[in-house]
Amino acid sequence: MRIAIAGFMQETNSFVPFTTTVKTFEEQYFHRGDELLTAFGSARLEITAALDVLKQAGATPVPLLATMAMASGTVERKSFDTIMGEIEQRLKAAQANDAPVDGVFLALHGAMIVEDQPDAESEIVRRVRAQLKPGTPIAVSLDLHGHITAAMIQPDVAYIGYREFPHIDMYETGYRAASLLLDWIAGKVKPVMALSKRHMVFSPDSARTGTPPLSDIVAEGRAMEARGEVLHVSLFPVQPWIDTPDLGFAALVCAGSKEAAQAAADKLAKMAWDRRAEFEPEVTPLDEIIRIGLSSPGLTAASDAGDAPSGGGAGDSTAVLAALLHAGADRADRITICTIVDAAAAAEAAKAGVGKTVTLKVGHKRSGLGEPLTVTGKVKVISDGTYVLEGPGGNGMVGEMGLTVVLGIGAIRLNLRSIAHFEWDLGIHKSLGLDPARAALVFVRSPAHFRASYAPIAARIFLADTPGPTCLNMRRIPWTKVTRPIYPLDLVND
Ligand SMILES: [Zn+2]
Repeated sequence: MRIAIAGFMQETNSFVPFTTTVKTFEEQYFHRGDELLTAFGSARLEITAALDVLKQAGATPVPLLATMAMASGTVERKSFDTIMGEIEQRLKAAQANDAPVDGVFLALHGAMIVEDQPDAESEIVRRVRAQLKPGTPIAVSLDLHGHITAAMIQPDVAYIGYREFPHIDMYETGYRAASLLLDWIAGKVKPVMALSKRHMVFSPDSARTGTPPLSDIVAEGRAMEARGEVLHVSLFPVQPWIDTPDLGFAALVCAGSKEAAQAAADKLAKMAWDRRAEFEPEVTPLDEIIRIGLSSPGLTAASDAGDAPSGGGAGDSTAVLAALLHAGADRADRITICTIVDAAAAAEAAKAGVGKTVTLKVGHKRSGLGEPLTVTGKVKVISDGTYVLEGPGGNGMVGEMGLTVVLGIGAIRLNLRSIAHFEWDLGIHKSLGLDPARAALVFVRSPAHFRASYAPIAARIFLADTPGPTCLNMRRIPWTKVTRPIYPLDLVND
C-alpha cells in the first residue's frame, strides 16, 4: 500500500500589510521528497505521526513536499502556485506508469488565504484530488484555528482538527487522521463529513479548549465519539484576523452517515452559539492599566495583544509607548518595560554608543500602520539580541532579537529590537540586564502565552485593549469582507 504525504501550512493575517511568498515558507521549513522522511527527527508533528502509522501498518510512504510559514500576510498567488504546482508534479510523478497511490495524507492549517482565493485549503484539496484515481481517499489534519468552508467538503476527503488550544496535539491529530485513512482504505470505515457554522468570532485567548465555555462543547464532542454516534468531532473556533466571507465558528464531524454527522455538527454549533456571550475576552483600557501599574505595589504585567508577532503582527506599534509617555510613566519612581521592533532605530542608537542621549523616530516602519513616534532617551544597553529562553515553554532554547538597544526614556526602558519573534519569555529582558519582577509595569506583545512566564512574578495581569492586526477586541478589527451579521459586531439574536 502506498500513501502520498504532503504538508502545506500557513495561517494568514489579512491585516498585515505584506504578502507571504515562497521565501516566507523557506524561512520556517521546506522539505522535498525523501527529505520528509527524516527532516523532522522525533518532533511530535502531524507528518511524523503519519509516518509512524504507515510504518506500523507496513505501508509505504510517498513523500511529496512539506512546508510551513509563520503566521503572516495573504499568500501571493504566484508563490501559492509554485508550491502547489510542485506538489501536483511530484504526485503525478509518483503515479507514473499506471501506479496510483492508495491514499493521500495532507497536513494543512485551514486559515490560509491567497490573494484571489479566500479559501486556499479547498483549492489545495481539489487540485490534489484532480491528480488521483476517482475514489482515492484523502485524510487531512487541520489547526483548530482553521477557517472551514462548505467548499472544503468534497467527495473522498476527511478532515480531523486539533483537539487542544494551546496546541499540544499535532502528533495525536496526525495519528488519528492517518489511522482513519488506513481504516478507510481497508474498508473498515466509510467516513462522511458534515459542517455546521455560526457567524461569530472571538479572540483565541477566550476560546481555549481547557476552559469554559469551549471545554463544555469539547466534552460533548468527546461524549458523542465515546457513545459511538460519530467517528471524529472537530471544533474550529477560527482565528479572527482574516477578512473573508463566511468567517465563523465551525463544528466539523466525521461519521458513518451524513445524517449522524450533520445532527452532531448542528448540535455542537448550537451549543457554541447559545453561549456566545461567554466567549467575550476581558480586555482593559490601556490608560487604566498604566494608572493601576504605576500606583500599585508589585509587578503589573499586561499583554499588548494588538500587535503580537505570534499572530503575524510586526511588533512595531507605538500605542503602548505613546500612552506611557502621555501618562507620565517616564517620570515615575519605578521602571516600565516595553518593546518596539525597529531595526533602523536600534542601529542608529547603537551607533551613538552606550551612555549617549539620542533622539529617534521609533515604530511603524515595518508595518506602516501608523506614524513613528519621536523620543529622546539614553542608550543604556547594546546587545546582539541573543537570549536563552527560561521557559516554561521552550526552556533552554536560544532566541534571537537581532541588534537590540535598551533606550532609557526617564523610567521607561524601551527594548528596541531588530527581529520580530515570540515575546513572552522573561529571558528577553534578563539578557539585557533588566529584571521584570522589579518593574512596576511590563508590556508583552503576546496574546496568551505570556501568562505562563509572568503569572509567577506578577501581582496582577491584564489584557490591554490595544489596536493592531492581532487585537483582542473584535469590534476594532477592520473587516470588510466578513459575512454580516456577525457576533459580536452586530446584535444577533436567534
Ligand atoms: Zn492554531
